[in-house]
Amino acid sequence: MTGDIRLFAYVGPPVLVVSARSQPPGTSIRSRAELSAWLGSRPSAEWREPFTYTVDAEGVLRLAPRRSEHVACAGGEPVGAAGEMAFVPTADGWEVDEFGNLSTGYCPDLDCQALVVAVLGAIGVPHPAVFTHPIVFRRCPGCGERNIVRDGDFTCALCDAALPEVWNFG
Ligand SMILES: [Zn+2]
Repeated sequence: MTGDIRLFAYVGPPVLVVSARSQPPGTSIRSRAELSAWLGSRPSAEWREPFTYTVDAEGVLRLAPRRSEHVACAGGEPVGAAGEMAFVPTADGWEVDEFGNLSTGYCPDLDCQALVVAVLGAIGVPHPAVFTHPIVFRRCPGCGERNIVRDGDFTCALCDAALPEVWNFG
């Protein structure tokens, strides 16, 4: 996985970048064995909840405990993708049950889905064909607020300005 990964810069509160760089990043997952080892190290009560994930500039999946900041998971660096991912056990390992691009720190465009699907395929983890929780992010051109577009309503939740049709954070 090289070269042509579209990167998303961190767009959240700057203070979180500082703390992100003072703590260990998420755990790199390059194989089914590494995934099993990491999930096995987590309390079983966490398994049914989505974990924080990022994909780095080299196309490596990183996982962190639930509610970890994405910028911390990514070590403060830009990402190829970010969101939440839930796993369920199978007869011979784990599979992805739910995943999406919900990261208000990076607000990644929906097209990061292709990268996540490719990374999971390379690791060999079964997964749904497409995001189960796709999120449409737009920055308000009026007030600057980061918006999640719901039900096709391209209106800023804060100031009612019209939001653009295309992703506009970078
Ligand atoms: Zn606004």
